[in-house]
Amino acid sequence: MRIAVASGKGGTGKTTVAANLAYVASREGHTVAYLDCDVEEPNGALFLRPAISEREPVHVSIPAVEETKCTNCGLCGVICQYSAIVPIKGKVLLFPELCHGCGGCWLVCGSGALSESRRSTGRLETGNANGIRFLQGILDIGQAMSPPVIRAVKAAAPDADFVVIDAPPGTSCPVIESVRDSDYVLLVTEPTPFGLNDLKLAVEMVRVLGLPFGVVINRAEPSASDTHAWCEYEQIPILAEIPDDRHVAEAYSRGEMVCETLPGYVPLFSELLRRIAASLNATTTTAGRRCAP
Ligand code: SF4
Ligand code: SF4
Repeated sequence: MRIAVASGKGGTGKTTVAANLAYVASREGHTVAYLDCDVEEPNGALFLRPAISEREPVHVSIPAVEETKCTNCGLCGVICQYSAIVPIKGKVLLFPELCHGCGGCWLVCGSGALSESRRSTGRLETGNANGIRFLQGILDIGQAMSPPVIRAVKAAAPDADFVVIDAPPGTSCPVIESVRDSDYVLLVTEPTPFGLNDLKLAVEMVRVLGLPFGVVINRAEPSASDTHAWCEYEQIPILAEIPDDRHVAEAYSRGEMVCETLPGYVPLFSELLRRIAASLNATTTTAGRRCAP
């Protein structure tokens, strides 16, 4: 089961939920892989403390230009949607940081002036965290395109009972790349107006993708919030509420696993795991529009 943990905005506790979910699943005897796809700022390792055993670069394709063969037909500039290649006055200007590696330019170049080359964009690290198979992608400094690194992390995921994907925050391409082939998406939010606004965007995204999903409210107050009312109206299951507990914040600030430091939270994450499985079983056709089990 692939469970993606995402959030409409950063700072909601997404990594806390992902890491503790993986920890509890492993503790219950399941095989677990943790994929940190938040490649611009991976921080799952701070909590899971894996021993990294392998590092390998991630490359993306870019064109290599042989200007002497260029007939200045202009086709590469026409097909490139990212202005990464610009033929101008007998020269071909290439902007590798803008290139998405689609291959369009060297396919249309009839003179053989363009061929496929590659450049490094990040790295993939794999290791082990107390029995949890750990993988993280790290985007090189100065690189803008994280999807190739995310794809590399997901492609290297081993078979496991549970694959927990820590997605980047927001609703842009990297998030979609991280969550799109998941069995279930957990959306972590906080009961504030900003949290609700960004939750609505995230819900819109997963509905377009047609993925089953549920919500975890972090830093929840005992009283009902606008987030509760909205989820009820939209028939979105709230699978867990993590209380606004100073001890949790302290454990987080020390880089500790909540379930390890505060074992009283283990049942909450165990129940969350169980509810995800139950939600998945209950899902038939309309993703996300399910009542809580
Ligand atoms: S498509 Fe090839 S021949 Fe045409 S301008 Fe680009 S590099 Fe030159
Ligand atoms: S590979 Fe695609 S994105 Fe990159 S320069 Fe060529 S057409 Fe543009």
